Amino acid sequence: MPQVLIVQDEERTLIQRAYRKLLRSIKTDMDEIDRKNIRMAYEIAVEAHSKQRRKSGEPYIMHPIEVARICAEEIGLGPTAIVAALLHDTVEDTSVTLEEIRNRFGPKIMTIVDGLTKLKEIEPTIAQVENFRKVLSTLVEDVRVVLIKMADRLHNLRTIGSIPPESQLKIAAETSYIYAPLAHRLGLYNVKTEFQDICLKITEPDLYEDIVRKLQDTKDDRNQYILEFIEPLTGQLEDIGVSYRILGRPKSISSIFNKIKNKAVPFEEIYDLFAVRIIVDVPVLNEKSICWQVYSIVTDVYTPVPERLKDWVSTPKANGYESLHTTVIGPGGRYVEVQIRSDRMDEIAEKGFAAHWKYKGVMSHKDRFGVWLDNIREILEDPDKDAMDFVNDFKNNLFNEEIFAYTPNGDMKILPKGATALDFAFGIHTDVGYHCKAIKVNNKLVPMGFKLENGDQVHVTTAKNQKPNESWLKMVVTSRAKSKIKSAIKEEIRKKGIFGQEALQRKLQHIKVDFEENVDILVKHFGFKNRPELYYAVAQDHINLSEIKHYPVENGKFALEKQRVYTPASEPGTKKIQKKSKTIVLINEEPGDQYDYSFASCCHPVLGDHIFAFVTTNAGVKIHRASCPNAEHLISNYGYRILKADWLSDHGSDFVADLIITGIDTGPGVIERLTNKISSSLGLNIRSFSIEGNEGYFEGKISLIVANLNQINQAITALKSMEGISSVTRID
Ligand code: MN
Repeated sequence: MPQVLIVQDEERTLIQRAYRKLLRSIKTDMDEIDRKNIRMAYEIAVEAHSKQRRKSGEPYIMHPIEVARICAEEIGLGPTAIVAALLHDTVEDTSVTLEEIRNRFGPKIMTIVDGLTKLKEIEPTIAQVENFRKVLSTLVEDVRVVLIKMADRLHNLRTIGSIPPESQLKIAAETSYIYAPLAHRLGLYNVKTEFQDICLKITEPDLYEDIVRKLQDTKDDRNQYILEFIEPLTGQLEDIGVSYRILGRPKSISSIFNKIKNKAVPFEEIYDLFAVRIIVDVPVLNEKSICWQVYSIVTDVYTPVPERLKDWVSTPKANGYESLHTTVIGPGGRYVEVQIRSDRMDEIAEKGFAAHWKYKGVMSHKDRFGVWLDNIREILEDPDKDAMDFVNDFKNNLFNEEIFAYTPNGDMKILPKGATALDFAFGIHTDVGYHCKAIKVNNKLVPMGFKLENGDQVHVTTAKNQKPNESWLKMVVTSRAKSKIKSAIKEEIRKKGIFGQEALQRKLQHIKVDFEENVDILVKHFGFKNRPELYYAVAQDHINLSEIKHYPVENGKFALEKQRVYTPASEPGTKKIQKKSKTIVLINEEPGDQYDYSFASCCHPVLGDHIFAFVTTNAGVKIHRASCPNAEHLISNYGYRILKADWLSDHGSDFVADLIITGIDTGPGVIERLTNKISSSLGLNIRSFSIEGNEGYFEGKISLIVANLNQINQAITALKSMEGISSVTRID
């Protein structure tokens, strides 16, 4: 038999084996039609991908089969998703069309496959924020699209070894930016953890391997300890008379890594490397009371650390997670986290969203996912939102943990962590927000921007004549409140503007100049963005209408060439203008104040430096020097998060520049001579100064406040020319 045929036979066996494995993994109920559809999808996919191979060399069809298996087994999705998963790459990569899919499987599966095809078009070159929006748009259409996408991403990550390292980094960046937080929010705990672990393996391979090795080395000790911990509990657990399991699970590698990094503790000193999980098999009706019984047994045997009790049984987490957590002092004085939950809660904790649907109807509590999806819809539909705002809102409002606060009647409101009293008012009703006059939290009067905590009781007093103003925007964090306040301000401007418009019309009529022909000339002349702004300024008497009659008119139009900067004495417009003058950076050719930008502390850019902007995931936009030691890393790995930045003006102020000065220690006068030179001769302010001497040499670090690059260069030249100074360099 020719070799090619042997290989083909082997591959056919491989494919069929994978398919049978997929069928075995399906746990949900299926009827004849489901079975037929899965078979048909499989056959279409096998045929369509028959000529394709993956980077690893294996037949391409192995990928959709495995993605379908992950959907079924690891995420717990049903037949519809399995069919769509099998077909997910066909429309993009092969000659199969959406039309065919609709004809064979109906419109639902076609829509899901279409959503997946659209997500595939995500390009690394376009801004990541746009990709984010795309993913979310498909999410609100049918959550299964995103769940299947997660399975797709997971399989690609598991097999990432066969693609080049730089592409690996890009995929890792995108995964931690979009998919890991989304998996968390959808309650897919295992998927999120694996995403983070694989990303860590890609970005920090050495540290990753190090932790894996250490976990392996300490495995026996850990198991021994867990047994010792469990031993005194078992008797009493048996007495409750319910079946239970106890698991000891190590924490994820990425969470151990974060501890080592953020808390600067070595691996050996991390006390909570593992958690003990007690899972009881009880009917829904009893699960809460049984969980608390188990809690009581655990804390009878071991002393609990009180502030570590977390009750997500009474109020589940926003992503549906339910569990009772406590930390106790175990044998040998070690802290041990104990998680207590029912089988149902465990399944929700592991599989999140999909399991949640399975039990929907079993639990009476409100459909939190539905509320969440509504929130996403609301954010997506806001036409005023630019991409950056959008991502910030999303990260703040929809990924964060949540808090619960109550009205005086005991109605619970769910708000993102960090939400304020004013957010709460808008959360009750838009009108309550608009007319919010005073707020009491737990019977004490608080400022509107007061940050709420779990369990706060909030009482809002309203007044008819109260209305939002611009300062309110600083006192809210929810996108709902923000957009309501913004539209209220807009409305106010529009309303007042009517008077302004009428006044202007009268004026122009009076001096016999056509209104329509000239109003936009005036808008431009005063530097407004649009007519309503001009009308508003007129209504507020910020523009002196009597001046207008002196303007030159040619052929019925104002002949105004120079643009006048509009600087009213007070009120709304002012803030904007002042802010603009402080904005000294153009980001993507736009004034930087549209972004929440700041200067990176790693390289302290100074006016005149070559700079670029970097969109961070949680700290707005950072301006870096092109020569920043981190620049290369950022540009090569996160190219899509880099924005162009330029200096807007040539006068700035208060930049910090660090210089290293070395020289020969010519006695006790060095510091004095240097500081004298800087402050008296150069007229610069010194922010900090440190100097170290060693055998006749010294090295000093000096932080200067400068206005621009020129001043630094002047300072460097001047200092270099001083006696005894060998080198002066700016720190990169
Ligand atoms: Mn795929």
